Amino acid sequence: MIRLLIFSALAWIAYSLVKRWLRTVLPPSTATQGPLSRQGEPMVEDPQCGTFIPTDTAISSTVAGKKIYFCSKECCDTYLKTH
Ligand SMILES: [Zn+2]
Repeated sequence: MIRLLIFSALAWIAYSLVKRWLRTVLPPSTATQGPLSRQGEPMVEDPQCGTFIPTDTAISSTVAGKKIYFCSKECCDTYLKTH
């Protein structure tokens, strides 16, 4: 029984050490997300749902002389209806 307790304690210490080590080695996931996608394409924000999409796959629409990008036709339609 004592042996099991010692083993559990050691396992917990090892787990904490690995967790701390991973935190120093791996950057926080939010730091890897930026205005550029992994391919380096410029990313634009869909004003309707707030999703970031690469300009080449986004659906664009000109609203009041300004080019706006959307993630989908649905977002585009909803935005045009409400603006
Ligand atoms: Zn959208």
